[in-house]
Order: sequence, then structure tokens, then C-alpha cells
Amino acid sequence: MNEWYKEKIEDVFKNLKTNENGLNEESINNRLKKYGYNELPTTKKDNILTILVREIKDPIVMILIITILFSFLIGEVVDACAIIFIVVVDIIMGTYQEWKALKNAEALSNMIKVKTRVIRDGKEQLIDSKYLVLGDIVLLESGDKVSADIRLFTCNNLQIDESALTGESVPILKNEKVLMKDTILAERTNMVYAGTSVVTGRGKGIVVSTKDHTEIGKIANKVNETVEEKSPLTIRMEKFSKQISVLILMIAFIIAFVLFLKGEDVKVIFLSVIALSVSAMPEGLPLALTMALTIASNRMLKKNVIVKKLNAVESLGSCTVIASDKTGTLTVNEQTAKKILLPNDESYRIEGVGYNDSGKVLDLEHNPILYHLGKNGVLNNEAKLEKENGKWVYFGDSIDIAFLSLGKKMKMEKLNVSIIDQIPYESENQFSAVFYEEDKKTYCAVKGSLEKISSFCSTMGQDYTKIDLEKLKAQNESLAQDGYRVIALASLEIEKKSSYKIEDIKNLNFDGMVGFIDPVRIEVKDSLKEAKDAGIKVVMITGDHPLTAFSIAKELGLATSLEEVATGNEIEEALEKGEIYFDNFIACKRVFSRVTPIQKLEIVNSYKRQKEFVAVTGDGVNDAPALKTANIGIAMGSGTDVAKETASMIIRDDNFKSIVSGIKEGRNAYSNIRKVSYMLLSCGLAEVLFFLLAIIFNLPLPLVAIQLLWLNVVTDGLQDFALSFEKAEKGIMKEKPRSTKESLFNKELLLEVSISGLVIGFLVFGLWYYLINTLHFDVAVARGYVMALMVFIQNIHVLNCRSEKESTFHISFRSNPLILVAILSSIILQIIIMEVDVLSKYLQTVSIPVVDMLWLLSISCIILIIMEIYKKRFKKTR
Ligand code: ADP
Ligand code: MG
Repeated sequence: MNEWYKEKIEDVFKNLKTNENGLNEESINNRLKKYGYNELPTTKKDNILTILVREIKDPIVMILIITILFSFLIGEVVDACAIIFIVVVDIIMGTYQEWKALKNAEALSNMIKVKTRVIRDGKEQLIDSKYLVLGDIVLLESGDKVSADIRLFTCNNLQIDESALTGESVPILKNEKVLMKDTILAERTNMVYAGTSVVTGRGKGIVVSTKDHTEIGKIANKVNETVEEKSPLTIRMEKFSKQISVLILMIAFIIAFVLFLKGEDVKVIFLSVIALSVSAMPEGLPLALTMALTIASNRMLKKNVIVKKLNAVESLGSCTVIASDKTGTLTVNEQTAKKILLPNDESYRIEGVGYNDSGKVLDLEHNPILYHLGKNGVLNNEAKLEKENGKWVYFGDSIDIAFLSLGKKMKMEKLNVSIIDQIPYESENQFSAVFYEEDKKTYCAVKGSLEKISSFCSTMGQDYTKIDLEKLKAQNESLAQDGYRVIALASLEIEKKSSYKIEDIKNLNFDGMVGFIDPVRIEVKDSLKEAKDAGIKVVMITGDHPLTAFSIAKELGLATSLEEVATGNEIEEALEKGEIYFDNFIACKRVFSRVTPIQKLEIVNSYKRQKEFVAVTGDGVNDAPALKTANIGIAMGSGTDVAKETASMIIRDDNFKSIVSGIKEGRNAYSNIRKVSYMLLSCGLAEVLFFLLAIIFNLPLPLVAIQLLWLNVVTDGLQDFALSFEKAEKGIMKEKPRSTKESLFNKELLLEVSISGLVIGFLVFGLWYYLINTLHFDVAVARGYVMALMVFIQNIHVLNCRSEKESTFHISFRSNPLILVAILSSIILQIIIMEVDVLSKYLQTVSIPVVDMLWLLSISCIILIIMEIYKKRFKKTR
């Protein structure tokens, strides 16, 4: 059936065999079995075969395949077989790495689950949206992502963003009324559809279609292909490695030409020049980059950071400003009501901590007004707090839960009232209201920030005196100064109506304030220090009172004087004075209080104008614009679906500490990419140089094709993979953030690559010259020596690449055993192919006496010494 909007709600219930209490477990299981999970068919993912095909289609592999055919044609069967072997090894390694990265990306995207609040068996529960079935009763609130098509039966100012489905960008106000005639999708006001999201308000409805039967599912079935975009860094890297490859090809062409002039055999020229190009090209770079980012995202996950896009890993490393929420991120968000303050200055302490009923309000007996205040907190509430099997279970807004806990401490049992209407708490409103009936009288009760609540009031206290705003403000400030989060409460009898609007709330009586304590997260202090050392500025953006915010900021060492605190009003005034004034204003503040979502966006924009690279945290629907605009949007694990959807990463435990750990991994990923580049480029340079020198000095061709290709296997493949696993270096969080403008291949890297490339190139050439010209070795034997030296020296050089600044002797192998595995296995492999007769024949190499082998190893260590000296010098100049 497609026309649920035309049905009476009773008929929908009947039709789907459900009711307001929801389905029972048995029917849920039956329906799940019958209809399957509520999932849309995902876009076709690459499988291992498509990756394999892609690897084979790689230009370099293609060149090699042509070379193989060519070798067969000219009768070099041994060469051809050896190249086949090498190509196969190459393809297998490439496919494995890419497949691993893909699996990791899949695992990450599976972590991002959308949940739905449902009523089942009369109980509210939060379930993975995948398990939604027809007939489920769904509760909607602001920020929720809708995961099925739903027919509404209760709405409270429910407004839906349907742009994903209809393109309409203005939120649509929903109601529960039956529609009589055929209506187009965009005008079915009693339905909400999968793929849309709740902007504001609350609603309740019945699931009427799931999975590919939903409206979005029908479209999704048609357009199933979305292309995964590459990160800017990957694109730059691919471009760069292409440029280098072209350069190498050009050099190779020149070499080929010179060899031809010298009368070398054309077959030999062709084979060796191709092999040289393949061996010297840094073709592994783009994949190594993906690997480094993948490894980092994996490590971040262990530290509770879910990265939605790989390039976010890289951006996080260059962050210069973190604009953090207060509640939940810097504090634990376990609110406890600790103090009640009445307009006549009477104050009461409340015992206990956390969400439970232990503790009591001291001196409660004498004061019915306290009970009245507590009752309003409990009625004006959307949370749940109950004891189940001896354990306290709760969900909802933390302030609301704390009010329930206060109610329990006041021994408030079932209240004999009926709720007529509610204005739920939305953080941009800073208040919530309830309208209820008790003993045939109708009342309105509100709670929220003092600014908001006092605007609804004309009297205060038990004796209804005229409201004294100055006095209340002073009271609020005295509480806020002590770090209390203050919620004001007001109430009064009100004219009876069936539903209410904000305008109906007026002339209330101000009852008093409740002060809540929300302890700071202890571990955040260390993280703040770490961020500071790393040259990252941390600021707080909060909807809370300036003094409460300052008190927390001071405790954490985030701010030291009130000068550094800005209020919403001040931000507004500064905004009016123009961009330059505003940017200066923002630059000298550390705490932003009473901030509206729009101001949050302005603050982010200001930092961006100041050339900062901003990470912003957020949880609400209204944070979405700021999250989107920020260089790095970070959503809280406990936040709304909408925030999570917009952000580029999610902090599972809401904890500020995780952000800083993430930054560290991001920096490390970048530094590992540099290490891999360092190694690949310097080895490529050395090989080309060696060849050029040999030609210039009129020596024979130093290595034959097959030997060069072999070199490529034992000096690149495993080593770059291993280097991507390097752990963060000690000083990584002591450096200033890297500028995003800075190229990966900056002066330092260029210098390192050149020095080490030249040294390796000259060393190997020196040996070649010595063997041929001085010792008059047979060319084939000399090639064996030179090849062995190449393998040894390049593998030892991997140790240099482990750090650009630290001595390699200060970095333990325990932090990355893979390096040792890669180096040793390559060297051992080389020795095996030299010493085992059958194999050495294929590679046209020879067995080398042990003494000579040791000589070669000692020569290899020269590169280690030279680069150690380089690092020392570098350290001094730093
Ligand atoms: P933060 O930025 O620290 O998370 P919020 O935006 O959550 O602050 O809260 C801002 C203000 O809204 C609070 O200072 C308080 O006055 C009010 N407020 C917060 N929670 C509630 C609630 N559940 N009911 C009513 N008012 C609330
Ligand atoms: Mg909040």
C-alpha cells in the first residue's frame, strides 16, 4: 500500500497489527525474518578481483607485460620468466595493501550507525535503525535522522528537513491530520520519510515502509553509483609521482640514446632502460600514502575517533585551533543538582552525586515551595530515570535527568497531573515549558536560563512581589562564579486551552534557581597542555552563562582572566563593527558564552579569515553549519545524527582528550608519508645516478634488466609498507602545526633525498669503478657484487628514514618490529638468491665469499653514519 496518508490512524494500526505500545518481541522477530533488515542496497563495493584487475591495468605493470612478451620474442626465456615472477609479486603486494585499506574503510563506515528511538512492548528503547520493522512505533526529536517511512500520529512543532528527498530547503511543519485526497510527496504533512531529518520539535509515528520500499529506497535503487572522491593529498601525490615518473622516463630515454650511439645491442638497451625506469619510479607512493592514512585511522579508532574520510586524518594533523564545546567534552556531563536558591536569598544544599535517589535536600520539610520547584523540574522533563534490577538506568538530556534525580531525592511519587502540552528544550531556545492540569486547574511551568525565564515573569517569590531583575542577576552570578550551571524555574496558573504557543507564556511567577555541578574531566588538563605545547590554541564555545563557563575554563587552565571571556551580546556588538574589528575581538578571547548557533558559525569563519586551521566540535542540529564550515568538523558520539552526518569525524566518547590523540595520529600519518617518500625518492635517485655515472665514465652497463627489477622487489615493496607503521616520534606534539600551504616536498625533504641519494649513488658507482677498472673483475661477477651492495645499502638506509630528525639509534625496533622483518627478510632473500645456484643463474649473479659480504655490509653502513651526522647538524640549527 502506498497511501498511508489517506488512512485513519486506527486503520493504520489495524492494518499493520500494532498499537501505541509497539510490537512485542515475537512479532518483531517474525517481521525481521519475513522482510529482512531495514537497509538500502549499498553501492557496489570493490572486491578483491576488481582491485586485482586494476593493479594489472597499472601502466607500469603494462610496460612490464610488454617487456615480458618482448623477451619471449627475442628468445630471452629466462629473463621473461623472472620478470613474470617479479610482476606477480608486485601485483600481489599491491592488491593486498589496497584490499586492506578498503576493508578498513568499510569497517569504519560500519561504525557510523544511525539509531532510532522506538517503543516496543510498552518500553522506550534505542535501537540500530537496521532493525526497524513495519509497525514499529518511532519517537522523533530534533537532530534525528529518519530511517524509515513513517505515518505520524502525534506531533509537537515537528519540522522536517526534506531537502534530501524533495529538494525543498525550508523545513516542513508536520501534523497528524488525515489527508483526504491524493497528495504529492512534498505535501503529505502527516508523513515523514527515510533520508530526511528532524530540524526541531518532537513526533511519534508508525513505520509504514522500510528498506527499498521507502521513497528514498525507490530512488536509491535507480541511482546506485556514487563515486568515492579522492583526498586532495592523494591527488597531489598521484600527480607528483606521475611527474617524477615522466622525469625518470626522460632520463632513461637519454641513457638509451647514448647507449645506442655507443653501439650497444638494441635488445639490451631496450630491456635495461625499461627496467631502470621501473625500478627508479616511486610508483608505490600513492598507495603508501593511503596505507599511512589507513593505519592512522585504525589507530584513531582505538582512541575513540571515527574518521569518516581518510583525508580528515591528514587535516587533523595541521589543526591550529580547536573550538570545543564545554558540556560533555571538557566536563563529564553528569549533572547533579547541588543547591537551590530562592528569590528571598534562602538557599538549600542537596546531597549526593550522579543519577540516583541517594541523598536528600537539607531542611526540605519546612518548605513547600521547594517541593513545588522540584515538581516543576520533574514535569518539565523529557528524560527517564528508573531503577531496573537494582541498577539505575537513564536516558535523555542530562539536566533533565538531574531534575528527575532531584525529584526522587524529594520522595516525589506518581504525580496526579495530566500534561496538556509541552514546548520541548531545544538548545537554541535555552528553555522548556510544560502545561498541565492538576485539581481542575491549569498551570504553566518553565525552566531554562535566567535571561530567558525572567523574560516570562512579572512577579517573584512566595509572596508574588514585583520581579527584581538586578537581584536575580546577582544571585545567578554568585552561583555561576562558583562553577554552578544555573537553571531558573517559574510557574503560574494559566488559562485553559487545548494547545499553547510561546506567546501564551507571560506574567509567570519566578520560583527560584537550581545550581548544578558538572565536574570537569580530569584527563582534559593534560590534553590541554599537550595541545598548547603543540602550538594549538584551544577555545571554549558554550551556550552556558559566562561566569559558569569561566569558572570551568579557569579550573582547566584554559583562561586566566574574565577579559578572555566573551558573551553572546558582546559577540553581537563586535560583529556589527565589521570584519576587522570582529577578527581582532575573536583573536583575544578564549571563552565564548551564551553563544547562538549563528554566532558559532561566525566565530569559525573569523578564525578561517585569520588563517587558522580550525577544528570545531558540535552535537546539535544547529551545530551543522559550523561543523560544515570548519576545516575539521568533529561530532560527538552522543550527538545528533545530523551533526554526525555533517562532521568529518566522530568522537565516540565525547572526550576532548580523544581529539588531541587524534591530532597526534594525524601528525604521525603525515610524518610517515614523508618517511616513505624520503626512502623511495632517495633510492630512485641513487639508481639513476649510478647508471648515469657508469655511462659517463664509459663503463659497462652496471645491472641487467632482471637485476634492476629484482632490486625493486627487495628494496621498495616491504620497506615502504613497514615505514607506514612507524609510531609517533617523541617530539611530534612539541612542534608547531604544519602550514597547510607547505608542500610535502619541502626544502628539508629535498635536502635529505639529495644527500642520501647522492651518497648511495656514488658509493655504488665507486665499487663498480673499482671492481671493473682496478681489480678487472669479470663484468658478471662485478654485477653480483654491485647488486648485493645496492640491496644492503638501501635496506640499511631504511633505518635512516625512520626519523628525519632523531638518531635512528634512539628509536626502538619494538615500536615497529615490521621494519626489522622487512630489512632482514630482504637481505636474507638476497643472500639466498646469490648462494643458491639455481636461483643465481636466473638473476645472473654469483656467490660472494663471506669476507667480501662483510665488506659490502660495512660499506653500506657509511650511509648510516653520514645521515646521522646530517641529523646532528640539523638538530643544532633547529
Ligand atoms: P553547553 O554549550 O554548555 O552545552 P547548552 O547549550 O546545553 O550549553 O545550554 C545552554 C543553556 O540552556 C544552559 O545554560 C541552560 O540555561 C539552558 N538549558 C540547558 N539544558 C536545559 C534543559 N534541559 N532544560 C531547560 N534549559 C536548559
Ligand atoms: Mg549542550
